Amino acid sequence: MGSRPLLGLSAALLLASGCARAPSPLAPQFGGSIGMPHRGVLTAAAELPAEGEGYRWLRQDDRHHGLPRFVKAIERAAAVVARERPGAILGVGDLSARNGGQLLPHLSHRTGRDADLLLYLTTLDGAPVESPGFIRVGNDGLAWDEKGKRFLRFDVERTWLLVKTLVEDPDARIQWAFASRNVEALLLEWAHARGETGETLSRAMDVMLQPRPGGPHDDHLHIRTACSPAEIVAGCEHTGPVRPWIEALDRDAGHTASDWELADALFRPAGGELGPRAPSPRSGEPTAHLVPTSTANDEHADRR
Ligand SMILES: [Zn+2]
Repeated sequence: MGSRPLLGLSAALLLASGCARAPSPLAPQFGGSIGMPHRGVLTAAAELPAEGEGYRWLRQDDRHHGLPRFVKAIERAAAVVARERPGAILGVGDLSARNGGQLLPHLSHRTGRDADLLLYLTTLDGAPVESPGFIRVGNDGLAWDEKGKRFLRFDVERTWLLVKTLVEDPDARIQWAFASRNVEALLLEWAHARGETGETLSRAMDVMLQPRPGGPHDDHLHIRTACSPAEIVAGCEHTGPVRPWIEALDRDAGHTASDWELADALFRPAGGELGPRAPSPRSGEPTAHLVPTSTANDEHADRR
């Protein structure tokens, strides 16, 4: 409840400022992840360190910046996998540039809310190997490593542990974990067999999706974090389905549904294409009708 006056004030400021979309002396309230994943910028970013417990950058470049809480969540998840199933290293691909904006070849990755995580792989005998890069996993769970001229195996156990940790982490606020249908099926089959709880399974089923277009995502997971109410007030534009467990978290933190809707509405384009209350794609109808086209297709479309 305490958030209401603050939000009201911010809303008035935003309306007065005509919803300018970049931080400026005239709109100092904007900061962090500003805009949408495919059309926006990033300020006050944190850079994921080049390596940490259980992970390492795939490439040495300037593409590992994100919302600080999102970066921390990636570090935490890699560390959990490393502690519970030691021996493997998570390869981390692109997040965002230091100040966000276009990051080719991606269409998204512009606002510090996206990250490409490589799939864990093992040898055919089950020994963990550091992924040499974006290696495609087939229906049989095998992946051809062109560099090493050998088959590797999709490490379902560690990759599931990564997904589970991320969807159970309240600060990660995972809205999407783009993955191919095949990768998703292998992960969920494993999770079922392991007796995962219904809540964890349903979260994973909600967030995993093979985007169209954007490549099948059979060689990595592309995760996206959802804006928090405070981030929305600071310029983060929500797009796509609202995950019920994230909404519940915000409710527990004192944000009411109407706060959320107000903050969200401030940034909805005139065309209203966002469909802020779109049901989960797993609620019984074909995904194509329920995931707004601007989210499931265009903005998520990136080759990596
Ligand atoms: Zn990506």
